[in-house]
Amino acid sequence: MKLKRITVVLILSWLIFQAGAQPVRNELLVPDIDGYHTLKCDFHIHTVFSDGDVWPLTRVSEAWREGLDAIAITDHLEYNPHKKYIPISHEAPYEIAKESAQQAGIILIKGTEITKSMPPGHFNALFIDQATPVHNDDYKQALREAKAQGAFILWNHPGWKAQAPDGPKWMDEHQELFDEKLFHGIEVANYNEWYPEVLDWAGDKNLTIFSNSDIHEPMSDYLLQNKTDRRPITLVFSRERTSESIHEALLAGRTAGWFREYLFAREEILNQLLEESIDVSITGRNEKNITYKIRNLTDLVFNMHFPVAGSDKFLPGRSSILITLPAKENHDQVTFGNLLSRSGKPVVAQLSSLMKP
Ligand SMILES: [Zn+2]
Ligand SMILES: [Zn+2]
Repeated sequence: MKLKRITVVLILSWLIFQAGAQPVRNELLVPDIDGYHTLKCDFHIHTVFSDGDVWPLTRVSEAWREGLDAIAITDHLEYNPHKKYIPISHEAPYEIAKESAQQAGIILIKGTEITKSMPPGHFNALFIDQATPVHNDDYKQALREAKAQGAFILWNHPGWKAQAPDGPKWMDEHQELFDEKLFHGIEVANYNEWYPEVLDWAGDKNLTIFSNSDIHEPMSDYLLQNKTDRRPITLVFSRERTSESIHEALLAGRTAGWFREYLFAREEILNQLLEESIDVSITGRNEKNITYKIRNLTDLVFNMHFPVAGSDKFLPGRSSILITLPAKENHDQVTFGNLLSRSGKPVVAQLSSLMKP
């Protein structure tokens, strides 16, 4: 009798433990804009099928838990250090991951990384049919094959120290590839760094902005080592939640790079994200001052500078702050220092324009 009771207690506590230990998805709150779905994506991920540490299925479960909508596994074609132990197939990561991605509701995009020395460096080809034919010693032929398959191509980590010790450089080779339309996008942020001058290139040359993890280790290691709870993410403003719609959005340049507290995007996209994220109301007023409540409805964060008051405020995700400003002309102007359309160009807005009707 006593033994039975102990057994029941043990089974119950095991069940409670199991319930507590189940994986949950962290739903990232980022608003939709202008009739588009805002999809959280990572277009640069490695597995054991090149120089990554984990199996493709792990990349799907990491993405699901972190609230992502779409990922591309982009193993190196030219660099396969595990081949002594694992037979390398360039098609394997997608084939292995596609069923669990479908079950999890994650859009899995077939991709690969064309891995050349600088110039021109590394490029990701997304939405390809077959990775194997893209493998070519001649980088132009590799990119042409990817393009012939209908790929969207981006230049990866242009400021990676190992290849660009003096910072990102737009070389003649890049201009040739650009002129031949062999790439359409560029990583402004990669892994744990971002490149201000590359944000300016994106603006000047109308390149689609990316912020990708380029993860090789388990994502939990990255999050711990970088003291963050979020990987670099590319926000895609997509008509539908489909691979085809994401492809269309990338071609149209409708993205934002979300890296640490920063958002990198075209100015109109940043303005729309801001308008949908923040709600401002007046809570107090006298002859001298006006007090505002600024509420953030999202997981985005905002570094605000008020020039008239000469003060700075940080607005964390899903929270509100109060600020009292002198009631003089242009008093409610605010600079959002972490929302950048170019390297030195933060978004400037008026609090009154962020009030919901
Ligand atoms: Zn690379
Ligand atoms: Zn990579």
